[in-house]
Amino acid sequence: MQRRHVLFLLPALLSCWQAAAEPVALVADRVIDGVGNKARINTVVVIDGERIIAVGDRSAIPAGAKVIQLPGQTLMPGFINCHEHPLMYGDDYQNAHLQASSAYKALMGLAALQRQLLAGWTTIRVMGDADVYYANQDIRKTIDKGVFIGPRLTGAGHYLSITGGGGDVNYFSPEQRVIADGLVVDGPEEIRKAIREEIKYGSDWIKLLVTGAYQSVGDDPRNVAFSPEELQAAVSEANRHNVPVAAHAHATEGIKQAVAAGVRSIEHGTFIDDEGIKMMAAKGTFLVPTIYIGDYYKEGDKLRAQDKQDEYATHGRGKFLAAVGRAHKQGVKIAVGVDLGGYMTPPVVFVREMAVLVEAGLTPMEAIQAGTRVGAELLRWDDRLGTVQSGKLADLVAVTGNPLDDMKALEHVTFVMIGGRVVKSPGGGTTLAGILAQPR
Ligand SMILES: [Zn+2]
Repeated sequence: MQRRHVLFLLPALLSCWQAAAEPVALVADRVIDGVGNKARINTVVVIDGERIIAVGDRSAIPAGAKVIQLPGQTLMPGFINCHEHPLMYGDDYQNAHLQASSAYKALMGLAALQRQLLAGWTTIRVMGDADVYYANQDIRKTIDKGVFIGPRLTGAGHYLSITGGGGDVNYFSPEQRVIADGLVVDGPEEIRKAIREEIKYGSDWIKLLVTGAYQSVGDDPRNVAFSPEELQAAVSEANRHNVPVAAHAHATEGIKQAVAAGVRSIEHGTFIDDEGIKMMAAKGTFLVPTIYIGDYYKEGDKLRAQDKQDEYATHGRGKFLAAVGRAHKQGVKIAVGVDLGGYMTPPVVFVREMAVLVEAGLTPMEAIQAGTRVGAELLRWDDRLGTVQSGKLADLVAVTGNPLDDMKALEHVTFVMIGGRVVKSPGGGTTLAGILAQPR
């Protein structure tokens, strides 16, 4: 009886797979390809399987292709968020870390990642996650296997912090021994061991809290945490395994020490000076400024360390934006990192990081490229992602209107495709979990 049912269903299943195998042509009003200075009009994008096979005029549409019309829309590469913490599910993230299991964080994180995908974020670099174990690596494995639909993930299981640093829990009595949200390591030996473990369990980036942080309790973003010797040990250990290092750094000297040690990216960079900018431009170090998070947490009492955030909003923001503008002018590569965390944050606001880069001095086109092509370069995935070009993976987003005229348009995502699979479309709603699992 059961076998008869399967045989009966087989033709239907086969036709379903055949339907998915036909080429797809996307016809939008304009295409921002991530490379050119202007949007392209009268341009169609053709996808076969998981890749883009043609970008051209209507004559590029193959016979038998499924045509998806996107009137009034701008089509562009899927957004790349180079700084995120998907498992952080509460604003008061250090306390939230202490109150939830790794499994709970994984479930909330998966939901957050799927919501972020539907908001256009097709690739996310995890910068440590306030989790004792490696739940973000498990999410990544299940997405890669096709068990769940989610963004492409890369990044670090944990952030490495000194004792008393931004990744330590600094508001308990000395008698209390809790497992901190970061990996607390001191000295080159402990750093090397921690890096080896990170890589062993799947991290393909190493994240260092080189200076104090803004949202943690009991440390100062103006102070440098790791010593130059510790930084050199970290970078040499990671690079021996072909794993790049991302350096969280606010303090002026911390930024320079991290750049000198050879990190691939500076995260935040709040107090960067002109010498630091020069060093980054000369070495090709990327800057991931994460500006909008400061605006998001500007007021209210969401954070345990709200006082640091308020001080930044009053005295730091203007200077920081000016410095990001100068860095951009001097040739430092700026990539988009959002840093707003997971389930507690509405994903629609994440694109405001691109809008605020315009305030810092990038053109709208440059800001969009920071969130697409430049991000792919930082991740070393620019051979397959970040632009709308033939041969690239078909990670594509469409928004209503023209973001080059008004960056608010980025908040109106109507269409999302990842690896050739449509997960959101104007008429068709969304597809998330609940796919017919064909584990890869
Ligand atoms: Zn962060």
